[in-house]
Amino acid sequence: MWFRRDLRDTDHAALSQALRRGRRVYCVFVFDREILDRLEQRADRRVEFILESLAELDAALRARGGGLLVRHGWAVSEIPCLARRLGVAAVFANRDYEPGAKQRDAAVGAALQATGIAFESFKDQAVFDGNDVLTQAGRPYTVFTPYRNAWLRRLTEDDWRPHQAGPGVLVASSLANALPSLTDIGFSRTDLRASGIVPGMSGGRRGLASFLGRLARYREQRDFPAVDGGSYLSVHLRFGTLSVRSLVGAAVAAGALREGNGGATTWLGELVWRDFYFMILDHFPHVVRGAFKPAYDAIEWESGPAADEAFAAWCAGRTGYPLVDAAMQQLKQTGYMHNRLRMLVASFLSKDLGIDWRLGEAYFACQLNDFDLSANNGGWQWAASSGCDAQPYFRIFNPVTQSERFDPAGKFIRRYLPELAGVPDKFIHAPWRMTQHEQQACAVLIGRTTPAPLVDHDQARRRTLERYAVVKTRAVP
Ligand SMILES: Cc1cc2nc3c(=O)[nH]c(=O)nc-3n(C[C@H](O)[C@H](O)[C@H](O)COP(=O)(O)OP(=O)(O)OC[C@H]3O[C@@H](n4cnc5c(N)ncnc54)[C@H](O)[C@@H]3O)c2cc1C
Repeated sequence: MWFRRDLRDTDHAALSQALRRGRRVYCVFVFDREILDRLEQRADRRVEFILESLAELDAALRARGGGLLVRHGWAVSEIPCLARRLGVAAVFANRDYEPGAKQRDAAVGAALQATGIAFESFKDQAVFDGNDVLTQAGRPYTVFTPYRNAWLRRLTEDDWRPHQAGPGVLVASSLANALPSLTDIGFSRTDLRASGIVPGMSGGRRGLASFLGRLARYREQRDFPAVDGGSYLSVHLRFGTLSVRSLVGAAVAAGALREGNGGATTWLGELVWRDFYFMILDHFPHVVRGAFKPAYDAIEWESGPAADEAFAAWCAGRTGYPLVDAAMQQLKQTGYMHNRLRMLVASFLSKDLGIDWRLGEAYFACQLNDFDLSANNGGWQWAASSGCDAQPYFRIFNPVTQSERFDPAGKFIRRYLPELAGVPDKFIHAPWRMTQHEQQACAVLIGRTTPAPLVDHDQARRRTLERYAVVKTRAVP
């Protein structure tokens, strides 16, 4: 059993199948240097999250007679090599939909096959994958709402019933060493724990239990970043310390499939978005390089020193727009950003600053604890309007009115930008509107203690409409 982004020992498709079909099962995890060596920072919360989750998984497997064999190297060679040394008949894993992962699995599968070892993969990350949900014409959906309706029509209890372990036994390998430390794999400790994240299956269970108490209010609260409206379970879904089936089961138990059950129904819809973007990535891998709608590849983005500076200011949370800057601080300080704010800052980068969404996508990929290529790419292409079911290009978020709507009292802004704490409520969304006298009264000086707005939104909006006009001439009917 080769674990990857499924770091749990219960309700686990591949492990359950391995224990059904095999008599003796070894469990393996590889810290893949193909991925780790490319990470920009040597202190990365995600690596620490994985390591701590592995310690818990190893303990759980040991308690069942097995244990985890952990390697640091290139999975493409480590897995076939270990499989041969352990003398196994087959390697089992859960399916992954990223192009790079699919390529890796194809290479591992071929190397295993060459020595007579089978490679089998199972659906676990998603509720539905591959061709499970297709249009009547037998094609993948490219619009979310009909996809969600078809997804819901197809859903039965079997889709959320937990996978049970088979009669096979877990065995410990003599090749297993103690788990490596962060230093052993070339990383150092982060502020993961201090930022309130509890890794592992226990962290996932705790997070879910806490969220179930808020689920009924999810629809009303989810858009307000100062309120604990969301589940914050994305990092657990990312690394599989919770199974998506268990979350669907919890949503259904809370009435998600009943008419008029706002919170649970809306939340289940978010889990469907997750499946949707896995499906898009799987069927349309070109989105990794460019726009889902090729006409949008013709857009000319800002470039040169001024654009580089604007991008650096966006990353640093110094655009002068308080909610945008507070959101970027949240990302930097915690590795998380609220969904509404992800949409806002992505729109701001591509439509107010005119900067290629792929730069923002890459920055998020470095910073987000829950970074998932499918959802991240989907979210960025949605905001930049180049995606499959994106918002129209002429719909451009106004960073001030978004702030007034979703952080009305400026509570979130003040949490992440304490330098604005003294700004009166009526100016907190646009402090540059204060007179000199008002600035002095609250000790916030625009352009000195806090940045002046990097762009004028109305002018930026007009430039964006011109920039995007090219898609009208290129659009393929
Ligand atoms: C520009 C942009 C980038 C994003 N990048 C990522 C990313 O790298 N990884 C990621 O998991 N999500 C991403 N999202 C989606 C969403 O913002 C996060 O999933 C959500 O904020 C996580 O918080 P939560 O766990 O409290 O979510 P909840 O509101 O509790 O939702 C439950 C779960 O549903 C899934 N989900 C929710 N919204 C979406 C969505 N729009 N697309 C796909 N899945 C969704 C997540 O797994 C989430 O944990 C991105 C959105 C945007 C606009």
